[in-house]
Amino acid sequence: MEEIKQMTLAGALEGLRAKRFSSVELTRALLDVMVASQKDIHAFVTIDAEGALAQAAEADRRRAAGEEAPLLGAPVAMKDNMGVAGQPCTASSRILEGYVSPYDATVAAKLRAAGAVFLGRTNMDEFALGSTTQTSGFGPTENPVARGCIPGGSSGGSAAAVGGGLALAALGTDTGGSIRQPASHCGIVGVKPTYGLVSRYGIVACASSLDQVGPMTKTVEDAALLMDVISGHDPMDATSLDRPPTRLARQWEAPLAAQPLAGMTLGLPKEYFGDGLDPEVRALTEAAAKRAEALGATLREVSLPHAGYGIPTYYICMTAELSANLARFDGVRYGARVPAEDVLGQYLETRARGLGAEAKRRILLGTFVLSSGYYDAYYNRAQKVRTLIRRDFEAAYGACDLLLAPVTPEPAWPLGVYQDDPIRNYLSDVLTVGANLAGCCALSIPAGATAAGKPVGVQLLGPSLGEDALFRAARALELR
Ligand code: GLN
Repeated sequence: MEEIKQMTLAGALEGLRAKRFSSVELTRALLDVMVASQKDIHAFVTIDAEGALAQAAEADRRRAAGEEAPLLGAPVAMKDNMGVAGQPCTASSRILEGYVSPYDATVAAKLRAAGAVFLGRTNMDEFALGSTTQTSGFGPTENPVARGCIPGGSSGGSAAAVGGGLALAALGTDTGGSIRQPASHCGIVGVKPTYGLVSRYGIVACASSLDQVGPMTKTVEDAALLMDVISGHDPMDATSLDRPPTRLARQWEAPLAAQPLAGMTLGLPKEYFGDGLDPEVRALTEAAAKRAEALGATLREVSLPHAGYGIPTYYICMTAELSANLARFDGVRYGARVPAEDVLGQYLETRARGLGAEAKRRILLGTFVLSSGYYDAYYNRAQKVRTLIRRDFEAAYGACDLLLAPVTPEPAWPLGVYQDDPIRNYLSDVLTVGANLAGCCALSIPAGATAAGKPVGVQLLGPSLGEDALFRAARALELR
């Protein structure tokens, strides 16, 4: 089989269709590298070898019988917060240890119907709270490219799996940057779709007005293939937009034009290029902008005047929603239960032992901002500022088609550093939370590496449902 670690999803599908290898052979080859990497990288919390091989055998049978499906026999990895029937689902929290999904999340059902094989569950920050994958209840993940460093988070396991060649493609979730930031740190493509374009049914909720599921892949084309399968209206998710699935992959039926970005204006939001930006990140982002210009784009400086309020606004909205969402983990219905004298004691003991420090910190913060007397001062005010932030983006998209910006203020930092400094971690989300607060679409594509070899991504942001233009620009700009 071709070099498995370099293989793309599109390449694998082509090999499967041409019968150069079977899904069982492909799945087995990936399982071998996954298992071998666990000691060093620890990208997975569960590897379902038996289940994956059975699904692969079924895919091979379907193909032999002449069936076709968009992802028939293609193995994918799922972040540990999305339900896949019969597989454990813990969101990397001890409180959900032993919990097995009784049903498929809509994204899993769609992937399954498209013929995908579920390899296993990728590690993440507990309940998707973090940017390092170090808050996982099951131990951290290491960056497979910038060794010794964080892979980013919270979808750090998915990013490490794809960046390290352990999976062809994975899904992640992005509440404030959790797909784009780890994609940037691990040198892969990560997409946060427009809010409501991909169903959240069957996903362990983090902050419901911000969460989106999206692809994490080696190429923009692979991300398009996955988007076309997982997107579209779902009656099971009340926030789902009444839209058909995207048709992004058909762009690849035609070769790239010589000036693929001709006629497109890219806005450079000046607030995203401020003082705290690492010089190498700045240089790589500016180089990407120059390449866009050479490919025909017009560059234009734009302003997002309320960008400076992004972090406080995000951390008020997200902790408020999170504290409500995590209330369901009470030791009665799901996962672990610590018995006590009475029901209240059982709640308290289960949550005290089952939840990690970051989850507790955010439950406290969220409960505080929602409590009577503080609700207006914090939660209500944050909602108003969120509206201003959304209007900033709408105004910017009046002056340009897409925005081009850095993903993170600095490259991946060493494991263990800043671990006891939550504010430091929160501040690193400054360039990603805006897209979630505004609900618009955004992605990260590789932009090169620092002198020390750490991958750095560049972010493209688009208006609500602007995925077509977003993927067109990403395809033209990706470094391969
Ligand atoms: N790093 C951000 C946080 O800690 C984003 C997390 C996410 O997108 N799930 O909240």
